[in-house]
Amino acid sequence: MNKQPAPPPDDSPHCCLRTLIGIDLENIVYYKDDTHYFVMTAKKQSLLEKGVILQDHADTELLLSRGNVDQNALQAYAREAAGFSTGHRLPSLDFAMNHYGQADVAMFDFTCMYASETAAMVRRRHDRPLLLTLVGDSLLEPFWPIGTGIARGFLAALDSAWMIRSWAQGTAPLEALAARESLYRLLPQTTPENMHRKHQPVHRGPSHALPPTTTLCSSAPRR
Ligand SMILES: Cc1cc2nc3c(=O)[nH]c(=O)nc-3n(C[C@H](O)[C@H](O)[C@H](O)COP(=O)(O)OP(=O)(O)OC[C@H]3O[C@@H](n4cnc5c(N)ncnc54)[C@H](O)[C@@H]3O)c2cc1C
Repeated sequence: MNKQPAPPPDDSPHCCLRTLIGIDLENIVYYKDDTHYFVMTAKKQSLLEKGVILQDHADTELLLSRGNVDQNALQAYAREAAGFSTGHRLPSLDFAMNHYGQADVAMFDFTCMYASETAAMVRRRHDRPLLLTLVGDSLLEPFWPIGTGIARGFLAALDSAWMIRSWAQGTAPLEALAARESLYRLLPQTTPENMHRKHQPVHRGPSHALPPTTTLCSSAPRR
């Protein structure tokens, strides 16, 4: 009989978390500032086993609905994970309060993220053209751990303001929309590295990043 070497024991912190306290995470990130901020990606099975999620559902909206989450168990889960991963060296694991006066702990589903197909559209209302535009998370949901969420939110708001300006100056609706859509296609590519360092005056038009190789496919304002 061939002897196979035994696999090395998995003594990674994640494995200990799972075997010692039944918490199974894909990752955990700890930011130390005025408050201590923990972000973790928990596996569904461990949330079920720890009683955080009451009933398993395929539909994530139902799965994470208020009635299906035990808030006390969620707090205990977060506290245990935070305590374990910091070697129980934090003197207090009390939660900061949110603006509703409740413990600031929440659970989100990040298995899918949404992006609007178009940034803006024109509808006719009472025989007049009505310009509609989306900004922020409604336009492009961020993968928030990378910290680009609100920056892209501001860029979209500024780009929308530019479109409204051009609309008010009498630019043809299709031309204004085309310019806005061209900028929207670039939004997911914006990073701190490819943003312009020199901020141009606002009246020169949208001043955010254009990766150097990108060309606009419409008459969007020059940067
Ligand atoms: C846990 C977490 C951590 C994050 N960390 C970061 C980070 O470090 N850096 C970063 O850049 N981004 C981060 N983000 C993302 C960031 O919070 C969002 O990108 C940003 O808040 C989007 O702003 P918004 O104005 O589009 O939407 P929101 O901030 O969601 O604002 C929308 C507002 O509209 C209100 N509202 C909704 N429906 C209605 C209605 N029918 N009538 C009236 N009001 C309504 C809501 O109550 C809310 O106040 C994080 C997100 C989460 C969930």
